[in-house]
Amino acid sequence: MKSRFKAILLRKDGDKQTADDVELSADDLMPGDVTVAVSHSTVNYKDGLALTGRAPIARKFPMIPGIDLAGTVDSSSHPGFKPGDKVLLNGFGLSETHYGGYAEYARVKGDWLVPLPAAFTPAQAMAIGTAGYTAMLCVLALEDAHVTPAKGPIVVTGANGGVGSVAVALLAKLGFKVVASTGRPEEESYLKSLGASEIIARAELASDPRPLAKERWAGGVDSVGSKTLANVIAATSYGGAVAACGLAGGMDLPTSVAPFILRGISLLGIDSVQAPKPRRIQAWNRLAADIDPGKLAAMTQTIPFSGLRQAAQDILAGKVRGRLVVEI
Ligand code: NDP
Repeated sequence: MKSRFKAILLRKDGDKQTADDVELSADDLMPGDVTVAVSHSTVNYKDGLALTGRAPIARKFPMIPGIDLAGTVDSSSHPGFKPGDKVLLNGFGLSETHYGGYAEYARVKGDWLVPLPAAFTPAQAMAIGTAGYTAMLCVLALEDAHVTPAKGPIVVTGANGGVGSVAVALLAKLGFKVVASTGRPEEESYLKSLGASEIIARAELASDPRPLAKERWAGGVDSVGSKTLANVIAATSYGGAVAACGLAGGMDLPTSVAPFILRGISLLGIDSVQAPKPRRIQAWNRLAADIDPGKLAAMTQTIPFSGLRQAAQDILAGKVRGRLVVEI
């Protein structure tokens, strides 16, 4: 391990939060039984919130942000990991209560780590990152709810975003007809290249929702929330299911019980942060089987460590298409 290494450190002074470039040493890291040399991290929507301080993601200060990391075990007293093992980590309090991925080293609980699937390089795992792994959790939830391609199309909202792009690619690969809802119609050819069959305007799902609407799809993957999710639910066909994972459009949900009691719709809540380890491993194994590496590459941009602050602004402004990988 290097004696000094770089990191970004969030500090808080009164109401003012700063994100500073710092040099740390091993003693500065938080307790844990595995130290990982981090090669790659990512920028998710939540990282944008944490880095800019626009929402209270960090619950302790100082804090190293970065909810995802991938790299190589440097040292370990955990029975499951030894130096040289390739690993990845999503969530589990990183950037909230435990130092995260925007540093050359992370000391974490081995129980949080997932062995890197053989199908992926660390950079590919981070191209998936929390956003892509959450998209897979949504797909698994729809499958558990018996939503199959024969039952009808699936709508994906926020389709150009990280969760949305991976969800479109995964669902198309699994044989679903995918309806992609987006505020960026100019990205139609990108979304079609990922496998979307139909593109609809974000505005179509942004109006005041009625309790029930014409049945349009068998299910949905929603990263937007608010009226968009309410409209997705209202247009879901009898017995369908909608996986709700995000709030890019708002945290409220102005719906009624009508779709649930008259059409038997299920609303499936998706949390990636505390998802139990067997579910994580299942999701990562399915990603290894079901994500097309060419489509993953097409949806990914790689940025340097020095580009993190700008990327945080861009993702919150809805300017990022697909996924961002950070080279640490
Ligand atoms: P991105 O910013 O990459 O994607 C969000 C997309 O939502 C945007 O690209 C845009 O898509 C759309 N969007 C943005 N603002 C609005 C708006 N005001 N109204 C409607 N649509 C909007 O973020 P991620 O994919 O990383 O995350 C998506 C959401 O999922 C976030 O809210 C995030 O917090 C949440 N999330 C939750 C997780 C969990 O564990 N439950 C895990 C991961 C993410 P377009 O331009 O195509 O319209």
